[in-house]
Amino acid sequence: MPHRLAVVVPTPAHSSISGPLSYLSELPLAPGTLVRVPLGKREVLGVVWDESSNYTVELAGVEARPIAGALDGLAPLGPGWRQLVAFSSAYYQRGLGEVALAGLPPQLRDMDATQLARRLKRPAATAVDQAKATALPLTLEQGEALAAMEAGTGPFLLFGATGSGKTEVYLQAVQRMLAQEPDAQALVMVPEINLTPQLQERFVARFGAGNVVAMNSGMTPPQRLKSWLAAHGGNARIVLGTRMAVFASIPRLRLIVVDEEHDPSYKQQEGARYSARDLAVMRGKLEGAKVLLGSATPSLESWQACEKGRYQRLVMASRVGRDGGEAGSVPGTAGAFPSVRLVDMNLQQKKTVFSPQLLDAIQQRIARGEQSLIFLNRRGYAPVLACNACEWKSECPNCSAYRVFHKIDRTLRCHHCGYTERVPRACPACGNVDIAPVGRGTERLEEHLAELLADVKQANGEPVRIARMDADSTRLKGALEQQLARMHAGDVDVLVGTQMVTKGHDFRRITLVAALNPDTALFSHDFRAPERLFGLLMQAAGRAGRDAAQAGASEMWVQTSHPKHPLFTNLRRHDYPAFAAQQLKEREQAGMPPFGFQALLRAEARTQEAAQAFLKAASAAASELEGAEHVTLYSAVPMSVQRVANVERAQMLVESASRNALQRFLSAWQPILQATKEKGLIRWAVDVDPLVI
Ligand code: ADP
Ligand code: ZN
Ligand code: ZN
Repeated sequence: MPHRLAVVVPTPAHSSISGPLSYLSELPLAPGTLVRVPLGKREVLGVVWDESSNYTVELAGVEARPIAGALDGLAPLGPGWRQLVAFSSAYYQRGLGEVALAGLPPQLRDMDATQLARRLKRPAATAVDQAKATALPLTLEQGEALAAMEAGTGPFLLFGATGSGKTEVYLQAVQRMLAQEPDAQALVMVPEINLTPQLQERFVARFGAGNVVAMNSGMTPPQRLKSWLAAHGGNARIVLGTRMAVFASIPRLRLIVVDEEHDPSYKQQEGARYSARDLAVMRGKLEGAKVLLGSATPSLESWQACEKGRYQRLVMASRVGRDGGEAGSVPGTAGAFPSVRLVDMNLQQKKTVFSPQLLDAIQQRIARGEQSLIFLNRRGYAPVLACNACEWKSECPNCSAYRVFHKIDRTLRCHHCGYTERVPRACPACGNVDIAPVGRGTERLEEHLAELLADVKQANGEPVRIARMDADSTRLKGALEQQLARMHAGDVDVLVGTQMVTKGHDFRRITLVAALNPDTALFSHDFRAPERLFGLLMQAAGRAGRDAAQAGASEMWVQTSHPKHPLFTNLRRHDYPAFAAQQLKEREQAGMPPFGFQALLRAEARTQEAAQAFLKAASAAASELEGAEHVTLYSAVPMSVQRVANVERAQMLVESASRNALQRFLSAWQPILQATKEKGLIRWAVDVDPLVI
């Protein structure tokens, strides 16, 4: 008598099968066992699911088929992992199989039992190099943070100023946990792949290469499988990765660290649109692991959780090596942080890019052999190319957006669909040869600055060295490392870049940071824009004056037409708590997150009408649902970039004062969405807790 198994398989998005399917097996198999099963005409990887699951479906009139085989060389995926997958699937409104399989390394999906057995025979790690670096003696604040972590249960929010030594806290929290339990494991997450190498280096130096594995999308499939196996088998004590690592199988997980927890990169933007930070907190709860979130500018969600006592706040207010690090003071007030200079652009001549004051300050740095960092959030030479004789602009034929002019390779490139063409010699519409760039990106800024500083020399008489760092300049493998090395070696005087340069890097010789034109975020329709801007400017300021000898002279310059804006007042004082309090008050009055809860229904279609018609039909059907009175459905609207790659996009906001009510509504809505048909509709998706509206 064969055994009946519930197996989750990769079902297509939005099919009515969202739970496990029934299969037959000669032997009983434990939940979490990986199996190969037939699905339609294919054979796929599946995961044996818990018996008690009440959603096993029998396809009408279809006999349950036998499994093709079990990958029994591997220990089953643990109950904590299965609960995390089940939670994510329900919360983010995606199929169980889709979420489960996306959490496994791609290579595993194509392996049968024999291939896996062969792979597992390979010796695991040959790395024998031992940990060399020893723990630093802790500052007072670091010691207090670690002691509080040991005494409490968390989740913890480490509110530590830039340069306060958060990384050392992470390292020693991991170290203590590993020492306490002989086989415990830790998960350390970072927002961006760019930031992994330096953190990985520090963890490897402290714990030895054999104990640390990386997990990120920049790795090859064999590398990812290797890391995954080491974590799943318990050999790797520390898993260090980007958001995808939250789904790694880590059977003896005891600690989860989320560095720069405010970073939007933790939110997955396709498939199951999960927040890896939020899932980390949930995973900690499910698996009994402590959770440590860290940031100098926490997300308002996490900050509010501290205010409400749901998270425990740990404060590190001062930079390492500056003052005593008095506990309880507000980060930044110690005086070791760069002073903020606001330049009122209303008082400047029209079209000024660099105010004379800022230019002068940069020149002083050059004369002293110090570095400056200028950032502008727009890459390329100019965002638009336009004809001076007619109406022509460098519109993308496939998107409702302009193609960006890149002077370096003389192309017009669409940053949405990638469509690229050589720059035309003359206006394609009227033949006029006088076509000109409008606006400014980092490439043009670099060129402009080179002109302005053409006669300026370094102290040794050599010309000024200007460099640029953005997604274009770092595209080639190894380019980023090379540019960072030049910066660290002091071979650059002024670095121009996008926000990429503001994140995480521990530059030692920068004493001036300047934001050229951050004003658009002050009046954005996106209610999170001020939060992002404040975080960005604080992080950017954090790059300056890291070397104690130069701290006194370090400055953060902001050129703005709204110098009286409260955001800048708080920035001047380096007062994140005051900024957060002011923003939270506004959000509370407006019922915005974290006081209200949101989801977006997005639709893509051949025409804007079809996309909106789908949303309207879904909205009309929703009013019948039980509990619909607890949610507000807004009108369907085009997305801010309405057309991308010839696909029209629209969205509809759903809001509720209660997270549970919103969740109940979305679950009840799901079958209606699946049943709603609209001619020309290409795809739709639900985004729960969307970051960009
Ligand atoms: P954060 O991540 O909080 O911005 P970092 O972790 O980059 O700060 O630390 C800033 C600098 O201080 C680093 O160069 C780090 O090596 C150093 N540092 C951290 N903790 C200590 C300590 N206890 N003693 C001496 N130096 C430290
Ligand atoms: Zn023209
Ligand atoms: Zn395009």
